[in-house]
Amino acid sequence: MKMLEQGRPWEDIQKDMQARGASDAKWRDGRTAVYVFNAGEEIAAIQKEAYAAFMSENGLGPLAFPSLAQMEKDVVSMGLGLLHGPDGSTGAMTSGGTDSITMAIKTARDYARSNGRARERANVVLPFSAHLAFDKAAHLMDVEIRRIPVKTDGTYEADVPAMIAACDSDTIMIVGSAPNFPHGIIDPIEALSEAAVEKDLWLHVDACVGGYFAPFARMNGVPVPAFDFELPGVHSMSADLHKYGYAAKGASTVLFRSEALFAHMPFDMNQWSGAPMKTPTLAGTRPGGAISAAWAIMNHLGVDGYKRLQGDVCATRERVEEGVKRLGFEVLGNPMLGLIAFRHRKHHAFAIYGEIYRRGWFTSVTKEPPSLHLMLSPKHADFIDEYLEDLEASVKAVAAAEDEEKLKVDARYS
Ligand SMILES: *Cc1c(COP(=O)(O)O)cnc(C)c1O
Repeated sequence: MKMLEQGRPWEDIQKDMQARGASDAKWRDGRTAVYVFNAGEEIAAIQKEAYAAFMSENGLGPLAFPSLAQMEKDVVSMGLGLLHGPDGSTGAMTSGGTDSITMAIKTARDYARSNGRARERANVVLPFSAHLAFDKAAHLMDVEIRRIPVKTDGTYEADVPAMIAACDSDTIMIVGSAPNFPHGIIDPIEALSEAAVEKDLWLHVDACVGGYFAPFARMNGVPVPAFDFELPGVHSMSADLHKYGYAAKGASTVLFRSEALFAHMPFDMNQWSGAPMKTPTLAGTRPGGAISAAWAIMNHLGVDGYKRLQGDVCATRERVEEGVKRLGFEVLGNPMLGLIAFRHRKHHAFAIYGEIYRRGWFTSVTKEPPSLHLMLSPKHADFIDEYLEDLEASVKAVAAAEDEEKLKVDARYS
């Protein structure tokens, strides 16, 4: 597109934009289980209004906008309150999980260096299932990533002894996920914490997709094992608000056990022509709307609201588990929250994925082992029967295609 010489009216543009959106994934009809978290129209409306209210303000200027500075503090302390942050724990809001993870690695690296360690090349040891954001951040900072295969006993959990064996004096961080994205299962954080305490290692818990889910699942009686600052080895955590916090996109939290650890995060600089500037995260300009929308949603939902929404998601996941088992699938590991991966005992998952995609569902896959993957939202409660019907049809279509293929082969050799 070349920029127009003369602009055109907003009414035109608005229509144009609506037309462009028409070919996007049909998430409002519940037909996506990745990228979007749909908690209904009321939540969406609050997100929009609360975002717009501070859309022009800039979180870069806490003195100019004490409103935003206080809302960020409130959000961080609500997060720490849910995740057993001890006295003195602290953190910041970031633009997302990748940003939170990047800042956590940067902080751990600078902390190690301040103690005279990892001066040459630092490394991070993590389970093979950990999010690729760690690799992206490590690439930026020239940190080595050591991915350790997960357990092969059907749990898909981090192999703690193997991870610890891979650590050395240049290890600045070990990682556990609560839960991981590919399987939706929670790593043995307690064992990782014990090892971290014993070996004086920095344990980061990546709770990007579970940080604002697991605490409420627990309150609802789901037997979620300890995974947060309750465990003494946990130094830092990442927890996204724009996932199961139901905030507008561009909102995550990165949290630290103490001020002393957090102190290695902000960037403070005055050797240039401009005014001195101290920024806590990667961003310079920080969208005020992302902060105000998260603050508003958290205040609107409260503990009660989150318990209800996460309870709905867990109930939907249980219906999926039952449904897919009936269709001959095996669920990977023991998912407890909103993510689930499952593979078919007879047919390749990716063939089934192709069929369900053709039926209008935009879902995801897990590569190891090849499986179908769903990240469920509260709104999926209304659509899951339809999904299971289409999944059944998809399995039948794959089976029929395989039979046909087999007949052809048989004919050729008979
Ligand atoms: C989503 C996710 C991330 C990355 O978060 P973004 O907001 O997409 O950058 C990291 N870790 C886990 C476990 C996630 O689910």
